[in-house]
Amino acid sequence: MATNGVNGTNGVNGTYSKHDFSSLKVNESRLMDAIHTGCKYGAAHRYGDHPTETGMARLSLNDADKQIRDWFLATAETLNCKTSVDQMGNLFAVRPGRNSEAPPIMMGSHLDTQPTGGRYDGILGVNSALEVLKVLHENNMETEGSIGVVNWTNEEGARFPMMAVSSGVWAEAVPLETAWNLAEVSPSGEDGEKRTMKQELERIGYLGEQPASYKAFPMACHFEVHIEQGPSLEIEKRRVGVVKGVQAFKWFEITVKGRDSHAGTTPYHARMDSMLCAAKLIVESNKISKEHGGLSTTGIVTGQPGSINTMAHTVTFTLDIRHTQDDKLAEIEKSCRTAFSRIAEKESEKGCKIEWKELVDSPAVNFHADCIAAVEASAKEVVQELPMTADDGQLWRYMISGAGHDSCYTNRRCPTSMIFTPTKDGISHNPVEYCSPEDCAIGAQVLLGAVLRYDKMRAERGDFA
Ligand SMILES: [Zn+2]
Repeated sequence: MATNGVNGTNGVNGTYSKHDFSSLKVNESRLMDAIHTGCKYGAAHRYGDHPTETGMARLSLNDADKQIRDWFLATAETLNCKTSVDQMGNLFAVRPGRNSEAPPIMMGSHLDTQPTGGRYDGILGVNSALEVLKVLHENNMETEGSIGVVNWTNEEGARFPMMAVSSGVWAEAVPLETAWNLAEVSPSGEDGEKRTMKQELERIGYLGEQPASYKAFPMACHFEVHIEQGPSLEIEKRRVGVVKGVQAFKWFEITVKGRDSHAGTTPYHARMDSMLCAAKLIVESNKISKEHGGLSTTGIVTGQPGSINTMAHTVTFTLDIRHTQDDKLAEIEKSCRTAFSRIAEKESEKGCKIEWKELVDSPAVNFHADCIAAVEASAKEVVQELPMTADDGQLWRYMISGAGHDSCYTNRRCPTSMIFTPTKDGISHNPVEYCSPEDCAIGAQVLLGAVLRYDKMRAERGDFA
């Protein structure tokens, strides 16, 4: 059955290349209905009177996560998809194309949330993917290759403390046993026991048999729609971000050692004040990062012994530094190390000692040119029909993600890129997180166009020959 004036594959021409991408449209109200229907499972933190004015608390592998998984698979089956579950509970649904032997184009994100999460982070990506499949299904569209959707387990790392762990196992970057043995951060049962990922996968019936590996489930490529989680698109009045990669970051724990002594009797020239020294270091890291166009953040500071009228002998603080380029990040680190030593030794009265401990090293991620090109071409076409709001006349822009995503891991094993949508006030990981229905639909429409372009490119370059 053909709708929207598009010939189905049963039509006279019957070939996919005769389709005009732009005539296939996602259904905004159906997309929003699916998002809010699914958010019944795990809704929490009401902030307004409207039924949709709640946040979410759908922690990975809890009862609500089981319910949304059941809903996901049931939805996929109505679209004639072949579904499977792997050893990490990753859910795959694939709509066969004309060449169903070749690896599918996959669209993915996650359905788990933070304990005080919102209705869009991850959820928009999975629902946009399902909406794309609904459009293909209702138009009897036969794609060249297969096209599917994946729901990655525990992307947030909020319950089991390793972010994007299950796409990490799929990419063979995280060992299966390491992931299975991750214990939840807070006990969920009455016995006070901390459950592991494997126990919870078993309990809710989502411990699959399919190996969690790119070798068992290869993908032609991976596209992900996600809210920006920052304010840039909104401030610049643009509608969509073409994401080229993810910025590099490093985490450190820095220990400053001084000497504890009396606050009233120790003159400045005799002090080794580790807290004052740490404060200067934090201010310096901010200055250095700004000079290099990066970011630095200190989120935790602890001082010992912790007394009002005694200087701290030891202060430990965390330092998170970020930049879009690895070499610039290395420069920030080097400058911080040099400046910290100088400040500790020469600008802290009698001097303090510093130790650096590296906690995380995450290099910059560069998405694949073919995927970026497909998203860019689609974005350009989609925004053509929209009223101009941006001062410089461009409703889309290139972006580098400030946060990590499952796409960082898929990018290691298949071409990948992402699509960003505006996020109200740049707020996420918060119940009031919001992306307007129109912007959600734009994200899904860009995804649809990107997937169809990529599918066409595969046929033209001979992937199915
Ligand atoms: Zn997310």
